[in-house]
Amino acid sequence: MYGTEISAQDIEAALHEGELCFYYQPKVSFLNGSIVGGEALLRWIKPDGSIIPPGDFLPLAESSGLISDITAVMLTELIADIEAIKAVKADIQVAYNVAASDLNSPYLVKILRSVIGSRRIGSGNIQIEITETAVLDNSDRIQRSLLDLVALGIEIVMDDFGTGYSSLDLLSRVPFSALKIDQGVVGRMATDAKNTHIVTSSLDMAREMSLKTVAEGIETEATYAFLMAAGCNEAQGFWMSEPLPRDDFISLLESKPQWPSSSLGLLYSAWISHMSYRRKVLDTVHIMTQTSPEDWENLPKMNLVHSPAHCRLSEWHLVKGSSGDDTSDFRKLDDPHRLMHAAGESLIHTTKTSQSTEEITKGIRIFLEYSDRVDAEVSKIVERWLGNAIN
Ligand code: C2E
Ligand code: MG
Ligand code: MG
Repeated sequence: MYGTEISAQDIEAALHEGELCFYYQPKVSFLNGSIVGGEALLRWIKPDGSIIPPGDFLPLAESSGLISDITAVMLTELIADIEAIKAVKADIQVAYNVAASDLNSPYLVKILRSVIGSRRIGSGNIQIEITETAVLDNSDRIQRSLLDLVALGIEIVMDDFGTGYSSLDLLSRVPFSALKIDQGVVGRMATDAKNTHIVTSSLDMAREMSLKTVAEGIETEATYAFLMAAGCNEAQGFWMSEPLPRDDFISLLESKPQWPSSSLGLLYSAWISHMSYRRKVLDTVHIMTQTSPEDWENLPKMNLVHSPAHCRLSEWHLVKGSSGDDTSDFRKLDDPHRLMHAAGESLIHTTKTSQSTEEITKGIRIFLEYSDRVDAEVSKIVERWLGNAIN
């Protein structure tokens, strides 16, 4: 068969001969530089030791319907692997790629419900990665599977974001927890600024939608450093590690490797999310004063939440506070931040209820004064943190 076309019979035989297995590629947290998870990637290991990547046999497996058999057999393997990996790191998050047929049948959900119910693995130990092709027909059956997975506490990740395989429209239809930025777009950042803009805009959009972000295909230290500074959450790519056989992945976990980490990216992220709040308040005032009250119900939904606890700037504060250092910096930020959000809420209230432009103008001034104070405190933190990072 070597050098010749692979047939569906070959794949079926390989499956039943136990020649298929998963390799695991680490996912690293930019926040602490350690492995937080891994992606399970199918490999066909021939008896002569040669390895066939999934791209060479999965398309045929999908078109011939064999993929359901593969999932049925390999899901059991995956669960056993996760149990072994969990013994080394209890909160490991293993991402599993699913095809349309996996979501079109009740099997996937049934198995996962049973292994989670019996506590063999926790719902946080597995994530489901899907691309547009997996949910293309958007049938009720697929929607049900996705909602069932979410109800089980399983996170759904949009794979290959930034390519034709993942559409923006999907973001509003599927209850995703995370976006995984496509390796092609990530790789091309080094040669083309447009790709860099696609990546940074994707990170911004994910932040707005409260989605976590993973970048795949990180092949250089420079790409890693860029994404860390841009506030991406997790990293995957050959620069850290290629996909590894399960036991090698476990050994790697045991050795507790460390890659660069920084909470500055998170501060940056928190900052952007905070600026987005500021912009939403000012835009809302602007738009409402230009629109008659009867038409306010038609304003685009902006998810304007005033509670400072919902602003990422507070979340970041909590992360740093709990890590035990620099709490004084954040205490100084806390007051103006809280006051700014209160001023935002009051400004929107005034805009809705008052006819007086003077009152609204005053509200805008107070809001922006607090905003300046928040800016000044954040600048001080950035200066200190960047200084520490450079020294
Ligand atoms: P994917 O889910 O987007 O997986 C990432 C692919 O990028 C993997 O290829 C991985 O080896 C590769 N990769 C990771 N880091 C780098 C890097 O730094 N540079 C480069 N050039 N490549 C990198 P792989 O393992 O060949 O998998 C290809 C695709 O096959 C996957 O794309 C996924 O869509 C599919 N696949 C893999 N395993 C399964 C499975 O169990 N079930 C299903 N349905 N699909 C699977
Ligand atoms: Mg994937
Ligand atoms: Mg991908």
